[in-house]
Amino acid sequence: MKLALFNDGRLGVVTDDTTVVDVTPALPQHDNGLGAGFWVRLCRDFAELRPAIEAAVATGTRHALADVSLDAPVLNPTKVIAAASNYTEHIEEMSGKGLPEWMLESDVFLKSPSSITGQGAITLPSLDAEIHYECELAFVIGKGGKDIPVESALDHVFGWTILLDITERGKGDRSRRKSYDGFTPIGPWIVTADEIDSWEDLRIVMNLNDVVRQDVRAGDMLVSVPQIIANASQVMTLNPGDVVTTGAPPGVGKIEPGDRIEANISGIGQLLVDIR
Ligand code: MN
Repeated sequence: MKLALFNDGRLGVVTDDTTVVDVTPALPQHDNGLGAGFWVRLCRDFAELRPAIEAAVATGTRHALADVSLDAPVLNPTKVIAAASNYTEHIEEMSGKGLPEWMLESDVFLKSPSSITGQGAITLPSLDAEIHYECELAFVIGKGGKDIPVESALDHVFGWTILLDITERGKGDRSRRKSYDGFTPIGPWIVTADEIDSWEDLRIVMNLNDVVRQDVRAGDMLVSVPQIIANASQVMTLNPGDVVTTGAPPGVGKIEPGDRIEANISGIGQLLVDIR
């Protein structure tokens, strides 16, 4: 099922390339996005809520996707957890000369949830440093947990989406450089976990102004999705609705006003972001 948030917090099911059906009435409660309660509950209890949502697809108001405003398909996550340097060639391009030992160690960092935005346009801050794109496979936590074992880690994935980890290059703390408003576009929707048989086979392709800049198979990442979940949950409790992004494939580069990013992941869709 492709789940979207649209028009300021309505819940939608995307039924084909052009249609979203408003299934908000199927929710046991809804709060128009002022609090994230309904969303957290949906992430946590999707199996239980699913039959009502499926029934609502038949009766809900249908909208052309082109006529709605897609919001980021996440709502007030308690954190955005990001895997650092998770593809060999990206580590090489960032280090320039060989692989420093510390870059080969699995690590995660946090981005501010307030940097999240949906499909559309982002306005870059005025900085002396270069601002780069990183197009990443991301997922949303369903059932939360602490010290989650690798073997059952995928059971905690509610669904998959596309995330751009926009980054100010240069010195200073990574979390600050990646947390400007608008630096975490997510979307266009979440594909629930049952629809993705093998996350390893997802293909991540990012075009910048119609030129392919990143093209990788997700399974080529160094630290697997289950291992990222296990590692992160040894540090912090993963809560329903938390966002986890899996790290940049090789091919990162500079963005400037006027650019257009087309971020594609097979089985998920396409996230379009215009840079202003
Ligand atoms: Mn990244």
